Amino acid sequence: MAKFQCKCGATLSNSHAPNDVELIVYDDREWDDIINSGDLIAPFTMPSPRYDVWRCNECERVYVFEENVVIKTYAVEDDT
Ligand SMILES: [Zn+2]
Repeated sequence: MAKFQCKCGATLSNSHAPNDVELIVYDDREWDDIINSGDLIAPFTMPSPRYDVWRCNECERVYVFEENVVIKTYAVEDDT
């Protein structure tokens, strides 16, 4: 996965590292499993999160991907 078009029209890309699009998100059970695995935790041995999570910097929508397919989209609500 390298590029994705947000519903607002912005093109999201993770081709640069670091970038402002990818969020590293673990749920608490994933994190607990990692911490309790007994393995040494280092940046290059850290397991990837179950889901890829991207945030659009234009509209702040958040997309959750599973195997490169969007399974959830979260959009900021207007509370005014
Ligand atoms: Zn957007």
